[in-house]
Parts: sequence; C-alpha cells; structure tokens
Amino acid sequence: MQTTRDGRRVAIVGGGPAGLVAAKSLLEEGLHPTVFERSSNLGGQWNAPGPHSGVWKTMRANTSKVTMCFSDFPLEEELPMFLTNQQAHAYLLKYAKHLRSSDSTDTGEGKVRPQSSSRQLPLSATSLRLI
Ligand SMILES: Cc1cc2nc3c(=O)[nH]c(=O)nc-3n(C[C@H](O)[C@H](O)[C@H](O)COP(=O)(O)OP(=O)(O)OC[C@H]3O[C@@H](n4cnc5c(N)ncnc54)[C@H](O)[C@@H]3O)c2cc1C
Repeated sequence: MQTTRDGRRVAIVGGGPAGLVAAKSLLEEGLHPTVFERSSNLGGQWNAPGPHSGVWKTMRANTSKVTMCFSDFPLEEELPMFLTNQQAHAYLLKYAKHLRSSDSTDTGEGKVRPQSSSRQLPLSATSLRLI
C-alpha cells in the first residue's frame, strides 16, 4: 500500500456519511485513510438496498438540504429542500468521488471490487469511486 507524507495509515470502519467525512478530514491532514464497508456500496443508511438500511423506497429526508450537506460540498440549487432517499444517496456517492479527486496521493491503487455483501472489503479512500 502507498505511503503518505508522514507514512501513517488510518482505518475507518463504515462508509456511511460519518466514514466519508472522516476520510475527508484525514486526507486534509495528509494521512492515508482506508474505508472498510461491509455492504456492497457506500452511503450507510442512505444505501437503501443495503441489508443494514432502514430506508424505504418512498422515504424523504426530514432534515433540509441546508442542514444535510457537507460544508465543503453544497447540494445543487435545483434539488428540492427535502431530498428523496435516492437523491441523498447519489449526493453521498458524488462526495466520495469528490474525495478521490481531491486526494493528491492517489495513484489508482486499491481497485477492489465488492464480491459479496457479507465480506469486509478494504477500500482505499483513493478508490471510493470504483464501488
Ligand atoms: C429510516 C431513517 C431515516 C433517517 N432520516 C434522516 C434524515 O432525514 N436526516 C438525517 O440527517 N438523518 C437521518 N437518518 C439518520 C442517518 O442514520 C444519518 O443521516 C446517517 O446515515 C448516519 O451516518 P453514519 O455514517 O453515522 O451511519 P450509517 O449511515 O449507519 O453508516 C454506517 C456504515 O457502517 C457500515 N458498518 C457498520 N459496521 C461495520 C463493520 N463492522 N465493518 C464494515 N462496515 C460496517 C454499515 O454497513 C454502514 O454502511 C435516518 C435514519 C434512518 C434509519
């Protein structure tokens, strides 16, 4: 695995909103995070098909897009004030993509594709877009 400026790697368990923003903060500090997500996609609760998710098909967020979005990644103006769960999930996947593009240490390594939702997959923050 690639080393970082100071050579330290950090494991993040869970690729939900909290795991993504943790990866962002670690990247900002020059560290090399790896996100471990047990299901077949990122997004946590917002990944509705995931076995752990309590989200149902017609569910909308009950918090506004103003309070939901990451401070460094605004939600598009044209989106409704209260997102559908699909819109919220798409936003999180875009954020993961954004993280990858802002990772100056990315060399394209860690191209791991999920094979089973029951496996714990080491997903480098540099390869989040691949899942
Ligand atoms: C029905 C429902 C409606 C909600 N509505 C809203 C809302 O409108 N607005 C709002 O702000 N919040 C809402 N929430 C809260 C929602 O949980 C949070 O917005 C957000 O998803 C929390 O993010 P998180 O990363 O902390 O946890 P989660 O989203 O739960 O993500 C945790 C991730 O960690 C993974 N994981 C856990 N253990 C392991 C392990 N051992 N190894 C590998 N991976 C692991 C899980 O698979 C999951 O992907 C709602 C929650 C539910 C259930």
